[in-house]
Amino acid sequence: MTKNVLTVENLTKIYSNSKTKKENKALSNLNFEVKQGEVFGLLGPNGAGKTTFLSILGGTVIKTAGNINVWGFDLDKNPRQVRASLGIVPQEVNLDAFFSPQQLLELQAGLYGITKKDRITDLILKMVALEDKANAYSRSLSGGMKRRLLIAKAMVHQPPILILDEPTAGVDVELRNNLWENVKELNKEGVTIILTTHYLLEAQEMCDRIAILDKGNLVALDTTERLLERIQTKKIKFKVKDFDLNTELSMKGIEFGIISKNIIGASYKKNSLNFTEIINYLNKNNIKIEDISTDDGDLEDVFVQLTKH
Ligand code: ADP
Repeated sequence: MTKNVLTVENLTKIYSNSKTKKENKALSNLNFEVKQGEVFGLLGPNGAGKTTFLSILGGTVIKTAGNINVWGFDLDKNPRQVRASLGIVPQEVNLDAFFSPQQLLELQAGLYGITKKDRITDLILKMVALEDKANAYSRSLSGGMKRRLLIAKAMVHQPPILILDEPTAGVDVELRNNLWENVKELNKEGVTIILTTHYLLEAQEMCDRIAILDKGNLVALDTTERLLERIQTKKIKFKVKDFDLNTELSMKGIEFGIISKNIIGASYKKNSLNFTEIINYLNKNNIKIEDISTDDGDLEDVFVQLTKH
């Protein structure tokens, strides 16, 4: 059995404003766990409570109720061990421009009280593909390199769990791919990854399991595959030759949409029909199919379905 490296039990956070006496429930009785070795995605629209959750883990926000256990340590009883088990990569790039990656990592190791002989600075630089830049000024690094250096900084104390908070916000596609390759590499080495992201396609590609938060509530928690299975509708587009727009198409269980004399759309409930039945029906009506494209939907559809108000 895979062990749980993070367990969240009945976690609630209420922000109260002492002046207005107003209360805001940012997290409402959350329960979930993260398993060792997985890439776990925490998704949700703005205001869902993602930052609040990460801040509780990071120790900058105090929870109202509930329990959190990280790597076998209880957050209330052993906050230092909890912190030592986590590497948190912040959203904002906050690097001192005048230090080199090597110096930054050495400084960070010093902050964690890691003795010189136990430091693995070179190895970490290699893991994030920055060994060539070890002695360059941080300010001379590209955006993607800076992001990777942030990951390196969070890995200095060799935490078993790495948390990435919107790691690719504002990062272009190529750098994003490069960053993910590095994260996947770390994951292969055994590091459990927890990430928040707005890029649903990215979550779909990267995560083994995904939790979707909405207004402080957990509205879904499942493997990425099973979340995608929740999309019930399959859409098809047929490219056809000179369709007579006066023809009426009607078939049980399927909805046709005539888009133009060359394009016919169709949608039906997955597994309710056999694809060949539709083709046969179109053939019977003398419709000449030239091309077909299908759309199974993606995480965006699940997300919208679950978080629409
Ligand atoms: P997300 O990161 O998913 O966008 P947040 O954790 O930032 O969500 O916010 C969750 C809710 O908590 C929101 O309603 C937000 O307004 C509220 N909130 C966040 N921080 C504070 C704070 N310091 N004081 C009061 N309310 C807050």
